[in-house]
Amino acid sequence: MDMEQQELNCWIEKYPLLKNIINLQPVVWQNPKMKKIGEMTLPIGLREMEQAEQLWQRFAPYLSAEFQDTSAAGGIVESPLREIPSMKERLSVHYDGDIGGKLFLKCDNELPIAGSIKARGGVYEVLHHAEKLAMDAGLLNVDESYGQFSSERFKQFFSQYSIGVGSTGNLGLSIGIISAKLGFQVSVYMSSDAKQWKKDLLREKGATVVEFEGDFSEAILAGRKQTLAKPDAYFVDDEKSKHLFLGYSVAAFRLKKQLEDLGIPVDAEHPLFVYLPCGVGGAPGGIAFGLKQVFGDAVHCFFVEPTHSPAVLIGLMTGEKDKVSVQDFGIDNVTEGDGLAVGRPSSFASGISEQTVSGIYTIEDPELFKLLALLADSETIFVEPSATAGLLGPVKIQATDYAETNQLQMAAASHIVWSTGGALVPKEEMEGFYQRGKTYLGGAE
Ligand SMILES: *Cc1c(COP(=O)(O)O)cnc(C)c1O
Repeated sequence: MDMEQQELNCWIEKYPLLKNIINLQPVVWQNPKMKKIGEMTLPIGLREMEQAEQLWQRFAPYLSAEFQDTSAAGGIVESPLREIPSMKERLSVHYDGDIGGKLFLKCDNELPIAGSIKARGGVYEVLHHAEKLAMDAGLLNVDESYGQFSSERFKQFFSQYSIGVGSTGNLGLSIGIISAKLGFQVSVYMSSDAKQWKKDLLREKGATVVEFEGDFSEAILAGRKQTLAKPDAYFVDDEKSKHLFLGYSVAAFRLKKQLEDLGIPVDAEHPLFVYLPCGVGGAPGGIAFGLKQVFGDAVHCFFVEPTHSPAVLIGLMTGEKDKVSVQDFGIDNVTEGDGLAVGRPSSFASGISEQTVSGIYTIEDPELFKLLALLADSETIFVEPSATAGLLGPVKIQATDYAETNQLQMAAASHIVWSTGGALVPKEEMEGFYQRGKTYLGGAE
C-alpha cells in the first residue's frame, strides 16, 4: 500500500536520495551507521559460525556419497575464486573507469548441489533440521560417520516429516533437492510465473511443486500456512531465518584460505572489497557478517539491488528495516534478476547488515544482461543475470569518495565480485540471456 504523499515527502526531505530511488535511478548509498568491528552489537558471533562450519564437516561424508559434484572436495560445498583480468579490462573500457587493484570472481554459480549461493544457506538449514530430528529421536550415533543419513532407516524416518518453502527461484531448488534426497516430504510453493524448467527439475528430484495464482508474497503466505497446518512440518522462512544466515556465513572461513593460497594479503594497507547481489539480504548479510568476523575492518562489503527492488536499501536507509516494503514507496518490485525481486528485507539479516555493510548501489536490469555477455566473452564464464550485479561494484565505488574518506590505497586493493548462480540454468535459457546482453551492448562490442 502506498503511503500518503505527505508522509512520503517527509521521508524524502530526510533522505534526499530516496527521490532518485523512487524514480528508479541507479544510486550509490554509503551507510552512515556502519560500525567498526569492536563497536558492533550482534546477536551472533564467531562461535556460531564455527559451530555452523562443524555441522558442514559432520555432514561431509554424507554429501560426498550422495552428491557426486561434492566428492572431489570431500563433501565440502565450496566454489572456486578466480581472478578475471580480461573482464577487468573490459569493465574499464565499457564503464569508463580504471579499476585499482585485482579483480576476482567468487564462483558460487558453480556451487555443487544447487548451482547457486542457496547451496550454502538452504542446504545448511535443512541439514541442521535433519540432524536435530535424528538426535531427538535417538537415531543418531554420534561416533558413527554421517554416512548413516544415506541409509533406508533414516530415509524412512524422515519420510514422516514435511518441509515447506515459498520460493520462485534458487531457494526452492536448494531446499527441494536436499530435502528430497534426505527423504523428507518437501513442498515448494511457487507463484504461477515461476519458470517451467525449475518446476520440472524439482519434480524430477522428488519434490512437490505447489503453484499459486497471484504474486509471490501470496505464495509465501500460503506456503507458510499450509506447511504449518501439518503436524511435524518445518517451514524455511527466508524472511527471518537465522540458520540460512549462518549457513552463508561460513563462506568467509573458506575465502580466507583461498586468499592465503593465492598469496593475497588482506589488512589495512591491502583492503578487500566484496560486492554481493542482494534479495532479502540473508545471503549477502550472512557472508558480510562472516567476512567482518574474519577480516575485521579491512573488508568492505557492498550490496547490490535492482533499481526496481531496493528493499534492503530502503530498509536500512530509513532505519525501518522489515517494517517497510518497496511497494510502500510506490516501487513495483519487478525485475528479471532471479532471487533479487524482493520487496521487503529479512528482519534477522537487516539488524546485522545495518552495522556491517559499507553501502548499497542499485543497478538497472539491462546492465545485468550486458555484464553477462561481457563476462561470457572475456572469461568464458556463464552466470545468471542476477549473479552479474556485483561486477559494476569496483567502478561504482571508485567514483565515490569512499576510498578517500577511509584513506584506502586502491592500487593495493582486491575486489571480489560474488557471482551467485547459474549452473542449473538450461543451455537454451542461457543462450537467450547472452543474446539479450549482446543486443543491449549494440555496436559497442
Ligand atoms: C537468493 C539469491 C541472491 C540473494 O540472496 P538473499 O538472501 O535473498 O539476499 C542473489 N543472487 C541469487 C542468484 C540468488 O539466488
